[in-house]
Amino acid sequence: MKCSRCGAGTVDQIKTWPTVRISRNSKEALILTTGLYECRSCKTRFRAVVERRKMDLKDAMDKIRNMEAQLTLATRERTQLEERVKALDGVDLEIASGEIFALLGPSSRSSG
Ligand SMILES: [Zn+2]
Repeated sequence: MKCSRCGAGTVDQIKTWPTVRISRNSKEALILTTGLYECRSCKTRFRAVVERRKMDLKDAMDKIRNMEAQLTLATRERTQLEERVKALDGVDLEIASGEIFALLGPSSRSSG
């Protein structure tokens, strides 16, 4: 792993978290493990994908539910998550230390 700014090879891993990426018209989900790194030389923090693997959509859904179950989510967040998972419209779920960010694809942002 190299620093994205200065290219130094000495970076510390601060944390990692899973990201589930589901594309429209796909029977597969992409499970990414994303890491947050800090460069020892210039102190820049950056994200990088540590691991990526494909997973059957059904298995991925189970995994999402599992991850969800491990977290104590507010009801509102849980509802939002479920709605978005159901919608399956370019869902990009990022699950990090007790927080769920559901990033929707550009198609659902601008309705027109
Ligand atoms: Zn650096």
